[in-house]
Amino acid sequence: MIGDLYPGGARGWIEVICGVMFSGKSEELIRRVRRALIAKKRVQVFKSHLDERYAGIYHVSSHDGRTVEAIPIDTPEQIARAVQSDTQVVAIDEAQFLQAGIVDLATALAGSGKRVILAGTDTDFRGEPFGCMPQLLAVAEVVDKLHAICVVCGNPASRNQRLIDGKPARYDSPTIMVGGDESYEARCRSCHSVPRRDEDQVRLL
Ligand code: ADP
Ligand code: ZN
Repeated sequence: MIGDLYPGGARGWIEVICGVMFSGKSEELIRRVRRALIAKKRVQVFKSHLDERYAGIYHVSSHDGRTVEAIPIDTPEQIARAVQSDTQVVAIDEAQFLQAGIVDLATALAGSGKRVILAGTDTDFRGEPFGCMPQLLAVAEVVDKLHAICVVCGNPASRNQRLIDGKPARYDSPTIMVGGDESYEARCRSCHSVPRRDEDQVRLL
């Protein structure tokens, strides 16, 4: 079911692992990287918004002792500069935070014969497409959409529930919160809540 068996040979392609937070995108990206290392491929891993919490997780080793660490990046240009010409597999986590240039970069890397694996959340807290993810899904050869478990009802979760001070964040709440205690939960469509302003509610009735 998970689409990492795409036959490659010398030619490149793009795989996208998408889904809600906690759906296991990073676990799946790491699994593919580990298997590429077992296949003795030359691999580079990149991650936007890398912080110290990830340092342990992002030291990926195969059983024969090959290891790879994630390189922290903020822009597609940084990835372009860091990718070595003999690299065969380029893996990029948290792709949803990267600017639109990531689409052309992934396409160019695949065109030069590399396997490109991107993982990212495909919807924002409103349930709407996130950044460059729709374009990446469109240009990819292989797409996997993973689900978490809804923390309210236990069904498959496909939405990122944003909470501010424990309450569902409004549709128009600012992306960057100043003050306020912000958290996220995985939820299904029917348990996902994004209150609109009162006038919007009335218009929708
Ligand atoms: P992602 O990269 O998609 O955010 P991770 O690979 O970092 O996901 O984490 C997946 C892990 O998160 C799961 O294996 C599980 O242990 C844990 N987890 C925590 N909350 C949930 C949830 N609501 N549903 C499923 N897994 C969860
Ligand atoms: Zn639910």
